[in-house]
Amino acid sequence: MKVIIVGCGLGGLSCAISCLKEGLQVTILERAPEILPVGAGIQIPPNATRVLNYYGLEEQLEKSGAIRIEDRLLRRYSDGRILCIRPGGKKMVEDFGFPYYVIHRADYQNLLIEEVLRQGADLRMGAEVVDVTFGASPTVTLRNGQILDADVIVGADGLWSHLREQVLGHPNPPEETGDLAYRGTFSRTQLENFQDPIVDAIINDNKQHLWMGPGKHCSFYPVRGGTEFNLVLLRPDNLPAGARTAAGDVLEMRSTFDDWDPALQKIISCMDSVLKWKLCHMHELDTWVKGHVALLGDACHPSLPYQAQGAAMAVEDGCVLGILLGRANRESSNAAELRRNLPSILDLYESLRKSRTTVNVKGSIRNRTMFHMPDGEEQRARDEALAKVTWKEPCVWQWGDIGYLKKLNGFDVIKDTNRVFDQWVGHVAKI
Ligand SMILES: Cc1cc2nc3c(=O)[nH]c(=O)nc-3n(C[C@H](O)[C@H](O)[C@H](O)COP(=O)(O)OP(=O)(O)OC[C@H]3O[C@@H](n4cnc5c(N)ncnc54)[C@H](O)[C@@H]3O)c2cc1C
Repeated sequence: MKVIIVGCGLGGLSCAISCLKEGLQVTILERAPEILPVGAGIQIPPNATRVLNYYGLEEQLEKSGAIRIEDRLLRRYSDGRILCIRPGGKKMVEDFGFPYYVIHRADYQNLLIEEVLRQGADLRMGAEVVDVTFGASPTVTLRNGQILDADVIVGADGLWSHLREQVLGHPNPPEETGDLAYRGTFSRTQLENFQDPIVDAIINDNKQHLWMGPGKHCSFYPVRGGTEFNLVLLRPDNLPAGARTAAGDVLEMRSTFDDWDPALQKIISCMDSVLKWKLCHMHELDTWVKGHVALLGDACHPSLPYQAQGAAMAVEDGCVLGILLGRANRESSNAAELRRNLPSILDLYESLRKSRTTVNVKGSIRNRTMFHMPDGEEQRARDEALAKVTWKEPCVWQWGDIGYLKKLNGFDVIKDTNRVFDQWVGHVAKI
């Protein structure tokens, strides 16, 4: 089976590895002429680690500079007071099966690229897809006019997906959320130069710190083996409607947080150039599949990054699609039967992934309510509820609700996909 994947982001690469693991032939088409280290840090929650472990890449993660997070801390914006601690380390593995990592996005992407190349994928850079056809032998047309065909085409082309609009047959931009992110990385030396014991404690604890306050929050964690740090600042959007990213004004950024925790302000002052990203999301898209073409990742379920699950969900999508295609390929007795089965397999993929990824889109919105709450009675009640979190009992806030977190982070996507495929085989055998 030949699979063309449009987009060399984390979702497309995961799909490529999953397909290659199943013995399928993979071509990846990426518009960018080269991979640039954009996007700063990224969190890899345990459900994504599970997939990387299935690919045999967990050990490589640490060699690529990923750090296993000890705890995740929620802090009060004004003074840095700790409001709740989600225990990491062994407890994370006990509860969810796998560790929680943080990594530089470029290191993550490079690790996956090395793996697809090692397994023989045909990766073409500077290959922008401008058109697609949907029949039993679907094709893509590149900007240079070249036409390529495959058995299945996967649109992993991100938030501003061209393939999404082709699948739907009409323009369908994502919805602006009203928030934007400043994001950047800087060196440990910059932080050590403050010689501030509070800053030193924060940079030496291998933890993720999240300060939450009215209308804004900040997330901070180490990357590159602790030699660099990642900072993301989230605030109300003031970019013009329709803008995607823009160079940020450092003074504007600093003044947005000038009444926040003094230790955090020192950390913020290390960012000497900054990009602003408009944050968009999308509520359940009507369809992810047309004929032999399927979407995955941000192309079909972009979310606010307030649950650190966007890429994790894209990585899960890719894994599921590869397993389903691989098993369909193995279990069809000839090419004609496989062709007949593919639309039903792609529908199965869509039904499996829609419900799971909607949990993330909605959960990220609920986290915004919790993170960005104005000071007052409701905020005091929130802080009291968070102070009582035991990680055994339910909590009204999903961030501290072990039941919710087990479903999100402990989900065994590989077992679940195989179970659903077995049911599908049983169903097909009956008709
Ligand atoms: C501030 C911020 C912080 C985040 N933090 C986290 C986090 O901690 N953890 C997490 O799991 N997620 C996080 N996310 C979400 C995560 O970044 C995305 O969900 C994820 O990167 C989506 O991956 P993707 O492969 O679907 O798309 P992308 O990474 O956008 O990849 C799409 C690729 O397709 C290519 N492409 C586009 N159009 C074409 C075309 N026509 N032809 C060929 N190629 C094309 C693009 O160049 C790109 O390389 C965060 C997001 C933001 C904004």
